[in-house]
Amino acid sequence: SRVLVTGVTGFIASHVAKQLLEKGHTVIGTARTASKADFLKKQFTQYGDKFQIVEVKDVQHEGAFDEVVKDVDVIHHIASPFHFNAEDPIKDMMNPAVDGTINLLNAAYQHGNNVKHVVITSSVAAIAWAAKPGYTFTEKDWNDETVTEIQKWKPGQEFSRFTAYRASKNAAERAAWKFRDEKKPKFRLTTINPGFVFGPCIHYIEKPDDINTSVALLFAYFKGQRQDVQPPAPNQGYVDVRDVAEAHVRAVERGDKADGERFITVKGSFTWQQVVDILHKRFPEYSKRIPQGEPGKNYETACRTSGQKATDILGINYIDLEQTTVDTVNSLKQFW
Ligand code: NDP
Repeated sequence: SRVLVTGVTGFIASHVAKQLLEKGHTVIGTARTASKADFLKKQFTQYGDKFQIVEVKDVQHEGAFDEVVKDVDVIHHIASPFHFNAEDPIKDMMNPAVDGTINLLNAAYQHGNNVKHVVITSSVAAIAWAAKPGYTFTEKDWNDETVTEIQKWKPGQEFSRFTAYRASKNAAERAAWKFRDEKKPKFRLTTINPGFVFGPCIHYIEKPDDINTSVALLFAYFKGQRQDVQPPAPNQGYVDVRDVAEAHVRAVERGDKADGERFITVKGSFTWQQVVDILHKRFPEYSKRIPQGEPGKNYETACRTSGQKATDILGINYIDLEQTTVDTVNSLKQFW
């Protein structure tokens, strides 16, 4: 089939494209950054015309996706800001996330005559929020408090960049389900809600500052740029990017079973202490610069997030923390 992948030059989206190409699909990716698009085209030359890139500069532009949806069967909407540098939480985070999602869904609804399934990359950031000791977050949970908090923000005031990101994911996903309830489109809709995503980078990274947010957090420990191995966060789930990509692909293959469903993709909880312990074990020649923390301690988080539903329905057999950590670091050899 012909599959549209928005933001194809990103960390997760490039893996979704790769898995689709390996399965013989034609992938039309949208991109806004030419250097990243050129790099990915070179990575996928073996697929010839089966991999195409269309420039979509501004996902917030009404009608941005009207043309690209016209002859596709499936859409993976992955483009959305993920960083902690927002200066304005509404303009920099909320609006691109929500408007991008709505523009995409409207395009599919009005112009995507062949579209059968839309998969949207949401996040655990739309689900978990306050520390609830002993609690396990599931697909039933929503952190609407984050949106309320960000909507109260006035220019000039301080705000949490983490809350701004969470609010953007919550609001975008809520908007997608509301769209479905109101418009009753003929296509299926599924969201994939990953925890912290690590794993090999196959997208273009020109310089260390460009490493995508989740991988950059981990890689900073390997480089010795993050020294404090903080006490465990209340809730922190991880997943490998290859499992996240597989969940996107499988959701479409499962058809009706995945329709109207959100799927958390999380292998398990982790703490940065576990990550640095793995780094010492597997990269001993770099031990000097990697922080020690308290080896073997602080492996527990106060609450958890369950990725069981993605195993049960999508058949995801998750990669573990050691493998994902090692593969992340090995994929960034040019920056060692
Ligand atoms: P990346 O930053 O690598 O990918 C983000 C993609 O979205 C890039 O292609 C980027 O384009 C594009 N994008 C961002 N903002 C805009 C915008 N305003 N207009 C057009 N395109 C935009 O990060 P990830 O691959 O990690 O993130 C992909 C998705 O996965 C996001 O929706 C994110 O919220 C979600 N996610 C990520 C998790 C993680 O831990 N990595 C966890 C849970 C969810 P460009 O390449 O040109 O910058």
